[in-house]
Order: sequence, then C-alpha cells, then structure tokens
Amino acid sequence: MTHPPAPEMTRDQAEALLHDVTAHALDLAFGSHDKTVTSGDIGQISSYLPETLPRNGAGPDALARLMTGPMTKHIRDYRHPLHFGHQRPAPLVASWAGDILAGATNSTVSAHEAGPMSVAIEERVNLWIKTLFDLPATARVTQTNGGSESILTGLLCAREHWQAAHPHPSADLRRAVILHSECAHYSIARSARVIGLSSGNIRAVPTHPNGRISITALDSAIETALAEGREIIAIVASAGTTANGAFDNLPACAKRAKQCGAWFHVDASHGGAAILSPNLTSLLDGIAEADSFGWNPHKLMWISPPSALFIARDSAMLWNALSGELAQASYIADQKALQRISPKDPVEWSLACTRPFSAIKVLASLFAYGSDALGARVARMVALAQHLAALVAGRSEFELLCQPDFNIVCFRLSAPDPDNRGHRTLRDRMATMDKAYLTGVEMHGRYWLRAHMISENTTKADLERLLDAVLEIGLSGQFPSNQPIPEKGFHDANRGGTRQ
Ligand SMILES: *Cc1c(COP(=O)(O)O)cnc(C)c1O
Repeated sequence: MTHPPAPEMTRDQAEALLHDVTAHALDLAFGSHDKTVTSGDIGQISSYLPETLPRNGAGPDALARLMTGPMTKHIRDYRHPLHFGHQRPAPLVASWAGDILAGATNSTVSAHEAGPMSVAIEERVNLWIKTLFDLPATARVTQTNGGSESILTGLLCAREHWQAAHPHPSADLRRAVILHSECAHYSIARSARVIGLSSGNIRAVPTHPNGRISITALDSAIETALAEGREIIAIVASAGTTANGAFDNLPACAKRAKQCGAWFHVDASHGGAAILSPNLTSLLDGIAEADSFGWNPHKLMWISPPSALFIARDSAMLWNALSGELAQASYIADQKALQRISPKDPVEWSLACTRPFSAIKVLASLFAYGSDALGARVARMVALAQHLAALVAGRSEFELLCQPDFNIVCFRLSAPDPDNRGHRTLRDRMATMDKAYLTGVEMHGRYWLRAHMISENTTKADLERLLDAVLEIGLSGQFPSNQPIPEKGFHDANRGGTRQ
C-alpha cells in the first residue's frame, strides 16, 4: 500500500480513522457492561504493540485496527455498574465533545492574542464558577492541571502572605508550620517541601474515627507550635478526603487560621462538587472564609482530566505570589505592547505556562446539561453511598467505618483480621476478577474496603451485588487467609511482563 506524504493523512483517511475510532469508543461507552475488565496482563497488552520503535509508519488503516482492536478490551470499564474504583470518572459525552475540539485545534489558554476563543471560554467558565461559589469581585479563578497544582499554588500564596506580614530579615521560613489532618492528601506535604519547608514544618493533626480533623487536636498542635516559637503560616482543611470523603469542620478551621494570622486553604479537590446540589452545599459551609481553595471537576463532575480550579479570594495575593518572574517572558506576551488591550493574560495567573484547553469541557458540560442536572447526579451518588452504608450496617457479616459524609463508603468483614492481611488479599483478589471493582484504604491502622460511587450505571441492586461478591470472595478464601493471589497481571512484580 502507498503511504500518504509524510507525516500527515489526507482528509479522507482522517475521516475514516476518526469515524472508526469514534464508533468503537461509542460501543465502549454505550455497549453492554458485562466485565469490569478483561485481565490486566501487561505482557498480553504489550503483545499488541510493535516491539521496537516504528521507523516506518503502518498507516491510518493499521492505526484504526490497533485502536479498535483487542487491546481495548483491557480498558477498565468505569461505566460498569459495579465499578467503585478510584476517583477518575467515565467522562460525560459533552466533556468528550470538548476534548475533540480542543484536541483538534490545540487552542491555547495562555494569551488572548494566540487563543481568542479559548481564552474567552475560560474567562466565561471562571465567571460561572464565581457565581456558583458566590465569590466576591476581587476573587480570581485559575484553571490548573489538578488538585496538587492547586495546593502548591495555595501554599505559594500562604508563603507570600506570611512574608508580606514579616518583611524584616529576622523572619525565617524555617520557623514556619503548616497544619493539615492526618487524612489529608499527600500533595500538601509534598507542596510544602516544594516551597522550601521540611518534615519538621509540616504537622499532621489527628482525626476522629470518621476521618474528620479533631479540632481539639488542632488546638493543641497550634499551642505546641507557638510554644516552640514557631509561626503557623497555613492551615489546610479537607472538604472531602480522598480516603473516605470526610469533610473537616471548615468554620472551626477558618477561625483558628484567622486567630493565628495563617493562610486558610481548603482542599475541595474531591468534595467541591457538593456546590452543585442544594442538598449538599451545607457540607461546604465555611468555604467562604477560605483565602484559597481548589476543586477538581475531573472528579465528581465527570470531566476528563485535567480539569481543576484554583480560587484565590483576593486576586492580589495570587498575583504577588506568581508575578515576579513574568517580566522576563516577553516572547509570550509583550507587556508593553499588550497593556492597552489585555493587561493581564491568563498565563500570568497560573503556575504552569502551558495549560490544556480544559475549560471547553466544563463549558460543554454546563451548557449541555446545566448545573442542576449535574448536581442531581452528584446527589444520586451520595444517596447510593448512604444506601450502601445502610445495607452494610444491616448485615452482621459486615462492619461499617462510619456514616459517609459524601460518596465513599468504607467497610470490612466482621471476621477478625488483626494484621489486615485477610482484607488486603480479598481486595487484591477482587481486582483480578471481572465481577466488581473497589479499592482499599488504611485508616488508623485498619484496612477498609473503599467503595467510591462514580458510575452512572450503578443502581441500589448493584450495591447488594457488590456485598455478595465481597462475601463470596471472603468465604472462598477461608477468610482471613494469606493465600497468594492468582496471577493475572495486576500484581506482577516483573511489570515489564513477558511477551506472548
Ligand atoms: C485527588 C485529590 C487531590 C489531588 O488532585 P490531582 O488532580 O490528582 O492532582 C488532592 N486532594 C484530594 C482530597 C483529592 O481527592
């Protein structure tokens, strides 16, 4: 076969390729969801791929065959009714449509001049977000690459805030302390290290058994730090922990931050979606007092990643934290020439220089469905979590960690398992099978099965099926047992895998 002139395809070829791939993707999204996954054997998946670097391309037809072929059976089905996995959602079709336009044009969101439509769309979405959270005019919304980047940006603001209040040379960042709960996301401690702090400056405050920060423990952590002659530069509260979706008491944390003169950041990466549903917004009470917060629509708004937001209540603080170095970047936007049209391009408000045009996906989803319908979907997930918790509480074979605040339920079998190995084995075994999928989490030294409601196809009956599947595996393994897990690729120590 003759290949098209390198390195592009003709329009006909492009149309045929995109048609085939799209048709196949539609089958995956709307077809039957009978298996959560068809084996994760890395060796088998790799066997579909050329072993060596292709020096001569195989052409569009071969690419279409690859992208619609048996390799795609190994995609874990996030739309499966018994998928209760990590926080990554199957995207809404509107998000998918946004990805197609953004992917095809690659329109920038850095500068007005280079991406007029994309920048205008981002600004409109930012405005809608301000409306949603009832933010003051002084607030600034920035779209980031994820919750981790939002947290890092928040801590940069915290440092800026502290340094502005302590302009004298004796102000030593080594005395600084950042407080968060022991169940908070690891990226807080990592970001603290990025801004120059070390482990002694980062303090994890104990939580209640339900995963919420203990305010008494927070008070004593503050007292201890002050007695050591340290200064609290930031308190980071979690609005929906990754572990079990617990919401910290935001007003109480805000009050402590204010008393210490510390920056108050709320990590609402997971739980920010509560703002969409009138039944859930009270979970976020107190967020209005945050100096900054982050929310990831790429979690419970069913948008493909990256789609995350960082919000600073006072745009000046964000500007101060980021602006120092930009004067050098005359190749992006010549400030002197642009000042008449757009004194501040979006690139000036973000840590990252290049960012994807994610706003199109948020716009498409809000435009097509509206925030109320999305909120109803979030509320449905929370209702499913409550139903599962009730089922667990009603069956003596199971133990419930706590009533869920949001869409994550943690539970165990009632059988004794002091070293948690029985539960870890059970979970790992379930992950190699195709019936149901969930993750696990260790809290306060005990390992819990963690069911995260995210699939639009999950019904109440599926929750009973999940519990039956857990029980079946638990019993078949003579729980608790230390039997090795059948090898199906997920726990292959040699992850390179052997080729078949
Ligand atoms: C997912 C998550 C993060 C990290 O967000 P990324 O987009 O993965 O960087 C931070 N905090 C919480 C509570 C999360 O659930």
